[in-house]
Amino acid sequence: MKQSKMFIPTLREVPNDAESKSHQLLLKAGMIKQVASGMYSYLPIAKRVLNKIEAIVREEMEAIDGIEILMPVLQPSELWMESGRWQSYGAELMRMTDRHGREFALGPTHEEIITSLVRDELKSYKKLPITLFQIQNKFRDEKRPRFGLLRGREFIMKDAYSFHATEESLDKTYQDMYQAYTNIFNRVGLLFRPVIADSGAIGGSHTHEFMALAEIGEDTICYTDGSDYAANIEKAEVVYHAKPEHTEEKALEKVHTPGVKTAQALADFLGKRLDEIVKSMIVKVDDQYVMFLIRGHHELNDVKVKAYFGTEFVEMATQDEIVAILGANPGSLGPVGVDKIEIYADNSVQDLNNLAVGANEDEYHYINANIARDFNVKAFGDFRFILEGELAADGHPVKFAEGIEVGQVFKLGTKYSESMNATFLNDQGRAEPMIMGCYGIGVSRTLSAVIEQHHDDKGIIWPTSITPYDVHVISVNPKQEAQQALADQLYTELKANYDVLYDDRNERAGVKFNDADLIGIPVRVVVGKQAAEGIVEVKNRKTGESFEVSVDAIEEKIKSIYATL
Ligand code: ATP
Ligand code: MG
Repeated sequence: MKQSKMFIPTLREVPNDAESKSHQLLLKAGMIKQVASGMYSYLPIAKRVLNKIEAIVREEMEAIDGIEILMPVLQPSELWMESGRWQSYGAELMRMTDRHGREFALGPTHEEIITSLVRDELKSYKKLPITLFQIQNKFRDEKRPRFGLLRGREFIMKDAYSFHATEESLDKTYQDMYQAYTNIFNRVGLLFRPVIADSGAIGGSHTHEFMALAEIGEDTICYTDGSDYAANIEKAEVVYHAKPEHTEEKALEKVHTPGVKTAQALADFLGKRLDEIVKSMIVKVDDQYVMFLIRGHHELNDVKVKAYFGTEFVEMATQDEIVAILGANPGSLGPVGVDKIEIYADNSVQDLNNLAVGANEDEYHYINANIARDFNVKAFGDFRFILEGELAADGHPVKFAEGIEVGQVFKLGTKYSESMNATFLNDQGRAEPMIMGCYGIGVSRTLSAVIEQHHDDKGIIWPTSITPYDVHVISVNPKQEAQQALADQLYTELKANYDVLYDDRNERAGVKFNDADLIGIPVRVVVGKQAAEGIVEVKNRKTGESFEVSVDAIEEKIKSIYATL
């Protein structure tokens, strides 16, 4: 392709609101243009890369017998009412009404549509298992669209769904998907980790997220060097090893603590360590209030609380609710004398005695409160986030890293087939709900994650598997006849074996080189002053090395550079 005929509106300056490196480079390299918050047009270079990522995704899906389909973006509300998600999906679902007053949603995901398709068309166990997938734009009215393509409101997703007669069959497809995802993310050049993740209210099931490692990532991954253990921090289990710091039990005492409203302030006031303080929190679980006790240096993990109670609805109580229940404001809450609500405590609270806790009276705390003697705990459990350096579930110290969720595989079980009545006839002729899995990849997010990992201060450095072009031919000065002629000739010859972008523009050499660095094609052939002698410069974008090469040795040089990438 001749660059004079291409559409690559590169920028010298990046807009201030582009916070992530990939967002900045996508804009600077002329790959995307914002249409509205979280919505972008993909310009030609981006589209070419997306095509390559999608081709890899298709190959790997088809290799495990995935069948491609395309479902409508617009989804009737009736199907979402059947699954119950018309209510529960909340504000992220983009809704609209047609001219007849019928309600629709712009698809954020397609469980409802696919379940209705399969229940109507596949009735026998003989037709199962089946895996269907599509690649399509999805819509989510994200609260905070940001980082360009990393969190958009309209984005490209590959979503796949599998239907099974048995759990074993689902296990097999889940394993196949896990392997296919590993292949896909390796092939596009991402450094990533599959991590154990939270399966939310569906519970009991199994799910992994595929996390591309990147500082900008919004998820924290817990991993260890001792094994291949890796989990999302929401899910990373804290295995309780008792470390009692029990001293002689002292008499309960109420102390006046003016202005003390935080655990740190109480620790400072009493001359104790933060981890010796016990925080009390009131949480609304479904329609019940409960109290949680957590040590001062720990944080309550709502995902674990949800899993413990088997519910999706867990919220911190509001100040008004707290005052109504305990008669005191947050900052002075504690378990002593509480009998209206149940008290749960993180396992590590058992390691302490003579606790410092709120007295349920503003500006007062108790010291020397003791479990069983002064208050009762209904149950101890793992209710908090793990800390870096603590022992993870594999027995090794946990390390933290930031990650971008590029994909997720999920055993759904019968959640949708039961609510939407998708049954099949088993080999005895009896109807049973289908067992399902669902599997997503953020295609546009993956494009951005690759840039996040593959760039330098001059621009993008494409992995060869998804580069928009293989070779960038640049004629330094097209007004010089010899240069122009040789560049034209090379473009024509190289096109036979490579995807070539040919910078034939009447621009200054500096502009062309800057643009080439930004766009990041792995190999550059520069036709300059030595054109008359049949000599050009071949440059490796990644290492910056350049070689003077005679015209007849160019292809060999390109091959030898590609062999190292
Ligand atoms: P997140 O936790 O980042 O909001 P999610 O877990 O809600 O994502 P899924 O429902 O698992 O997302 O969707 C499948 C994939 O789609 C994700 O793994 C991610 O790669 C991609 N994705 C989800 N939301 C967005 C978004 N707003 N912009 C771009 N890609 C997204
Ligand atoms: Mg997800």
